[in-house]
Amino acid sequence: MSIETLSAAVRNIPDFPIAGIQFKDFTTLFQDARYLKELSDILYERYKDKGITKVVGIESRGFFMGPATALRLNAGFVPIRKPGKLPYRTIEEKYTKEYGEDAVQIHEDALEKNDIVLIHDDLLATGGTMAAAYNLVKKLGVKKIYINFLIELEDLRGRELFDKDVEIDTILKYDI
Ligand code: AMP
Repeated sequence: MSIETLSAAVRNIPDFPIAGIQFKDFTTLFQDARYLKELSDILYERYKDKGITKVVGIESRGFFMGPATALRLNAGFVPIRKPGKLPYRTIEEKYTKEYGEDAVQIHEDALEKNDIVLIHDDLLATGGTMAAAYNLVKKLGVKKIYINFLIELEDLRGRELFDKDVEIDTILKYDI
């Protein structure tokens, strides 16, 4: 199946949730068993030889393909969540959004120094959310970090927030 077929299965909703946003709705892709399987196969093929020990998913849309990918890679799954959701001791990273500040947290004992980590989220827009997640994972001192998104909005240039040596992979690319 071609990437174009998968791209065409994502529904674009203009002006959601606010005017000016072209919202990429991938529920239309997930609901078709053939597309879901193809997406899972692509993720598996891209990371099967990297020695990934933990997939880290970002709340909440990183919780769809994150655990599914962890299962296929024979890796563990670790959630990064919004403040106040994780029950044990956490570390936190704040970041700036379009309007105001936000933060993400991870359990302080969720990763260890020998882990090879794949951080996964649905979509790369400005990159602020993933940059905060990346800093959190780095603070826990793992061996290597890979980053993956299902979708990249290339015109927003979110990639530029990251050092050149960070491997960022995206499956479906749109201008905006
Ligand atoms: P950012 O921190 O700007 O990269 O935004 C990342 C998060 O915002 C993603 O995890 C998405 O869930 C959501 N998001 C931002 N822009 C869009 C969009 N155009 N369509 C769908 N989700 C979006």
